[in-house]
Amino acid sequence: MSVVGIDVGFQNCYIAVARSGGIETIANEYSDRCTPACVSLASKNRMIGNAAKSQIITNFKNTVHGFKKFHGRAFDDPFVQAEKPKLPYSLHKLANGNTGIKVRYLDEDKAFTVEQITGMLLTKLKETSESALKKPVVDCVISVPSFFTDAERRSVFDATQIAGLNCLRLINDTTAVALAYGIYKQDLPTPEERPRNVVFVDMGHSSFQVSITAFNKGKLKVLATAFDLYLGGRNFDETLVDYFCEEFKGKYKLNVRDNPRALLRLHQECEKLKKLMSANSSDLPLNIECFMNDIDVSSRMNRMQFEDMCAQYLMRVEMPLKAALEQSKLSRDDIYGVEIVGGATRMPAIKERIAKFFGKDISTTLNADEAVARGCALQCAILSPAFKVREFSITDVVPFPITLRWKSPTEDGLGECEVFSKNHAAPFSKVITFHKKEPFDLEAFYSCPQELPYPDHRIGRFSVHNVVPQPDGDSSKVKVKVRVNVHGIFSVSSASLIEKQKGEGEDMQIDSEPLVQNEGRAEEQEGASGEKQDPAAGGSKPKVKVKSIDLPIVANNIRQLDSDVLTNFVEYERQMIIQDKLVKELNDAKNAVEEYVYDLRDKLCGMYEKYVTEEDSNRLTLMLEDTENWLYEDGEDQPKQVYEEKLEGLKRLGQPIQDRHREHEDRPRAFEELGKKLQLYMKFVDCYKQKDERYLHLVAEEMNTVEKCVNESMGWMNSKMNAQSKLAITQDPAVKVADIIAKIQELEDVCNPVINRPKPTVEEAPEVNDQNSGAHNGPTAKQGAEGKGDAKGSQQTKPGTKEMEVD
Ligand code: ATP
Ligand code: MG
Repeated sequence: MSVVGIDVGFQNCYIAVARSGGIETIANEYSDRCTPACVSLASKNRMIGNAAKSQIITNFKNTVHGFKKFHGRAFDDPFVQAEKPKLPYSLHKLANGNTGIKVRYLDEDKAFTVEQITGMLLTKLKETSESALKKPVVDCVISVPSFFTDAERRSVFDATQIAGLNCLRLINDTTAVALAYGIYKQDLPTPEERPRNVVFVDMGHSSFQVSITAFNKGKLKVLATAFDLYLGGRNFDETLVDYFCEEFKGKYKLNVRDNPRALLRLHQECEKLKKLMSANSSDLPLNIECFMNDIDVSSRMNRMQFEDMCAQYLMRVEMPLKAALEQSKLSRDDIYGVEIVGGATRMPAIKERIAKFFGKDISTTLNADEAVARGCALQCAILSPAFKVREFSITDVVPFPITLRWKSPTEDGLGECEVFSKNHAAPFSKVITFHKKEPFDLEAFYSCPQELPYPDHRIGRFSVHNVVPQPDGDSSKVKVKVRVNVHGIFSVSSASLIEKQKGEGEDMQIDSEPLVQNEGRAEEQEGASGEKQDPAAGGSKPKVKVKSIDLPIVANNIRQLDSDVLTNFVEYERQMIIQDKLVKELNDAKNAVEEYVYDLRDKLCGMYEKYVTEEDSNRLTLMLEDTENWLYEDGEDQPKQVYEEKLEGLKRLGQPIQDRHREHEDRPRAFEELGKKLQLYMKFVDCYKQKDERYLHLVAEEMNTVEKCVNESMGWMNSKMNAQSKLAITQDPAVKVADIIAKIQELEDVCNPVINRPKPTVEEAPEVNDQNSGAHNGPTAKQGAEGKGDAKGSQQTKPGTKEMEVD
């Protein structure tokens, strides 16, 4: 089971994985821990991440970035409409009214949904995790902004499914950061003590999020969250872009906004300049060569000037901080620390404002870029039975209050109840009891449209079917379970019809219960206790045996992909993955030909020169030249097999030269080794023949075999050396290194068992001095030194044996 956490940012994505050593942020194939949230579509394949980012300017119409906030939004959504003119690629209204992204892919015009685009990005992140973990990755935890509404969360969740991931939790960015902060803290207050309240501030490229979280040992509870949906690093880039567009209009008469490529380049340069200004308060240059119409442009800017220009944005930093503090009902003195993450919090002006608001130094102990991904991986580890981590309970909040409405026999004909108040604990489920005679609908919606960062406050309609009156004609009691799940997604999850109980005449009542989390891991939610304060909570239920019948629920108007559409997208993503793989293999095959041509051509004039006749060399050089030309002409676009055959053809001529070179280099060493072995064994034979008392125990017949083998091998070696010496260096060798190694092995197999025969041990008397014991034993040809034929200096002498020196 994989344990992976993914921070899908507006601009940057990070992956953290759990390995035996702990949580680790991993790098992609470019050795980059950050993978740009960028997808580029082309005529043969897709590029995703770093490869896509490098296409932003060259293939701007088909390179999609900045799409995270289109999740769950209709094309007509004011947010989408406001973004549209800023994008170098086109948006498109899909048949269902959703936002489509129009690109040219495989030489066709295509409109992808945002779920598909994020699905592509997640495919890439999945592959990166798989290559780091060297196993398939399915289970993961993915971060979303805490202000994402139901539709946005459902849309991201669909994207995870398109990528074939099993998302165990969509966790809020700031909650992930809180987990990454808290889980390693050894000094948190005990549950009986006052909690430690920490503020987490995350300003990324597109938005600004704040949370206040209370920590006790083993648990965290989010108290409040606040945000500015429209405040992030990109506002500061855009301010600079606006400024320089104006300046270049006057100074160089350039209308940058008319030229998408120039505008994109200016964006990139302005972002770089912005980052430089974070570290440097002096005047800094902005130079772009050949910017537009062959004109080089240059200008200057310093931090003070920049901050003045951005005053309108800097002013907005305080509001979410204030809102979060107010909601948490804490005072500044109750705040233990302020932790900041997210790239844009590196701007000194942002840091200053946060510090000033809380009246204390801000802390940057967390990794500003990677904390969210690390928190996600930690949450995944907690949820995974395959991984053992410290128990840590997480209670998040419902960011926007949720109300249910239904038809009721009251005056206005409608019943209504706020089922989740703002900052209610989440995940959480509640049971609501209705008294109904017929099927009914529950309309779920966000209670406060004015504070919702989304234009439609409706969540969906949930129809409870099969409701019938009691046999006596009275209303039936229907228990409906509503929940905000681990992903922060609302649903009416189940309903059941209960036989009527005496003395219960109310129209509706709410029972609450903590939600049992994923995979049977029950997490007692903090909300369970807060729950009891709920006036409608049915705490005093009489224990009567009741019959309960499950009722079907049909959800309508939920902003989520239909299951058949989702299935098609999953299949299409799989096809695109296969297509990318085929293109990669084709490119690899083509590159292999190109590399071989360059490599062999170089070596033919270098290290291989003496191993090939001039005639052959000329012929081969010509062939390499032809191949090189072919690659840029007819061979530009060929099937993989053609490249493979081309490479084979070249190798048929190149390989023998390469082999001759290698054989020539390695042969002396191999012969030397064989020679040493032969010397070693001959010495044994000689000593044995001279009746050296150390070898008296060796068997005569066997020693004859050794001698015979040594002589035979010696003859073989001499004949091969002789044959080889008669050959020119440009000819194939008379003997291969592999044959010599085989000969050594053969020699060892015959001789070693004979000469290593241990001397029969004599029962030693206790008074015999250990020092002398070595003298009783024969020499050993040692394992470790065998291959080298070097009996000297080996450390492998066993106690009680003595080494024989042969040199
Ligand atoms: P979001 O959280 O909005 O989805 P994200 O997670 O992709 O976006 P981050 O990676 O946290 O965003 O931050 C990226 C932003 O931080 C960019 O605007 C980038 O220019 C900015 N940034 C990074 N380093 C610096 C720096 N040294 N000074 C100023 N800004 C910086
Ligand atoms: Mg982020």
